[in-house]
Amino acid sequence: MTTTTPQSGYTGICVSPGIGIGRAFVYRKGTPAITRRRVAGHQVAVEVERFRNTLHQAGDEIRRIRRMVASEQGEELAQIFDAQLAMLQDPGIKEKTEALVGDKLYSAERAYAQTLAELKASFGNIENAYLRERVHDIDDIENQVLMRLAGAEVQALHALRANTIVIAHDLLPSEMVRLERRQVKGVVLDIGGATSHAAIIARSLRLPTVTGVGDCSRQVSSGDLVVVDGNEGRVHLRPDHETERRYRSQLRRQLRRVRDLDARRDLPAVTRDGLEITLMANVDVPTEVQLALDYGARGVGMYRTEFLYLNYRLPSEEEQFKVYADIVESWAPHPVVIRTLDLGGDKLSHVLDTPPEANPFLGWRGIRICLDTPELFKTQLRALLRAGACGEVQILLPMISNLDELQRARALLEEAKYELRAEGRSFAEDCKLGIMVEVPSMALMADRFASEVDLLSLGTNDLTQYTLAVDRGTSKVAGLYEPYHPAVLRLAKMVCDSGRRAGTAVSICGEMAGDPLATALLIGLGLERLSLSPGLIPEVKEVIRAISAAQAREVAVACLEMRTGKEVRQHLEDVVGKYLPFWHHGHH
Ligand code: PEP
Ligand code: MG
Repeated sequence: MTTTTPQSGYTGICVSPGIGIGRAFVYRKGTPAITRRRVAGHQVAVEVERFRNTLHQAGDEIRRIRRMVASEQGEELAQIFDAQLAMLQDPGIKEKTEALVGDKLYSAERAYAQTLAELKASFGNIENAYLRERVHDIDDIENQVLMRLAGAEVQALHALRANTIVIAHDLLPSEMVRLERRQVKGVVLDIGGATSHAAIIARSLRLPTVTGVGDCSRQVSSGDLVVVDGNEGRVHLRPDHETERRYRSQLRRQLRRVRDLDARRDLPAVTRDGLEITLMANVDVPTEVQLALDYGARGVGMYRTEFLYLNYRLPSEEEQFKVYADIVESWAPHPVVIRTLDLGGDKLSHVLDTPPEANPFLGWRGIRICLDTPELFKTQLRALLRAGACGEVQILLPMISNLDELQRARALLEEAKYELRAEGRSFAEDCKLGIMVEVPSMALMADRFASEVDLLSLGTNDLTQYTLAVDRGTSKVAGLYEPYHPAVLRLAKMVCDSGRRAGTAVSICGEMAGDPLATALLIGLGLERLSLSPGLIPEVKEVIRAISAAQAREVAVACLEMRTGKEVRQHLEDVVGKYLPFWHHGHH
């Protein structure tokens, strides 16, 4: 049978599990075509009126989205839209556009596009990443206004219909957080790997997501039926009846299973032989706190603070203090591990004025940025110390690669304490300090450093990327990105052993902590504290309750003997399959 729009399938990378079925919304960045139409002299007033109305409508829409994001995601994220509103209402832009309509008889579209083009050209010459980033805001606004003027239906990421599958070439983390989660059933991206930050957000929003599917976004039209299979990494465009039926029944099973797991959310995370595992939540955006409480997390194991900086401006000490204190209070008496700013890499390099780098993941990133901009760093440290007076805060330093960085960070922490003391403010005098172990040098040296800190937290996302020399966000090499590579496991073991000998707590907060396949292995390595996306807690807990610590140790010993990640995976599949009857037909 041949039709003009045949069924087709894609295989990509499993980023966030689950089945999603819905109608495609193809998100294309860029601006609509502009006709070179002129207006007749007597139509100028009408054209100007049409332009003004359009600005009003676009403004209403942005304010609506702002309210929605503020109530769903919090005020910090909502502030992204203030910059857009300011741009939309800028009197200079308005006057210039209207003058072009009046003097040159340009259509409103053409006049507005030309005005913004001049503005963008003036920004383009500026060697300032912050201002260069404003160009994206202008593009966004321009797109919305021109679409309206052209009479086209404005569909944006935050105003989607029910049961939508979002398909795009790529999405920024800031775009991902704007997805209205009630409407969106899945996400498909042409590029990207499993631990890119957009992927991490997809997982925390529990959106079935597949990435690395080549030119999928160009083969699909908005409105097409799409199935996203986040378990197998498959995308079906315009599936036939049989495929659709099969996936609908899988989706029903998935929903039943989620309900089953939810019902058991209050059971303790204890192995069959009585070892208690602490399951904590990774939190990327403030709204996840509620989700994490709902899933029975025992505190926050890693709060990524980059999201406070999404509105392109540095948050003040007071603003930060308020956010941290809120989180800490909602978790008391459980601890909240807050990671200091980890900008750079693929995350928000535009916040600071950084020229593009050839290897951003090896460049000015994380603690390196903080130590080079001590005032920015100290503002955050002061806010963290003060929040520590409202509950238990533990400070976690990202990207530490040598002892010197740790010592300099500690000196700044002491300086911040000294200042707060002098100012007579209340703060946590004995605030615990930990480091992320995500650069191989730190794992290799863990036996020398373990006693210097209160917590070693394994960041397997970066540890994998740096150990295997595989960019975590590039789909071309995603096949080489293997967290189960025995080289990564050996490094993890060194960290666990060093922590145990030094009496220093060891935890894991990389995505591996949320993979039920890894649970036995991690416990076997000696990890008793896992920090993961809240939505994955029930499933990981189920594995913990099905195994014994003794079995887990055998699993770890066996894996450490293996030569390839593939062998490790196969072994872990067998282990989970043996202990969990649901495994083959439920999760995978
Ligand atoms: C990691 O690298 O494993 C980690 C948890 O940090 P991030 O994913 O934010 O780089
Ligand atoms: Mg990291």
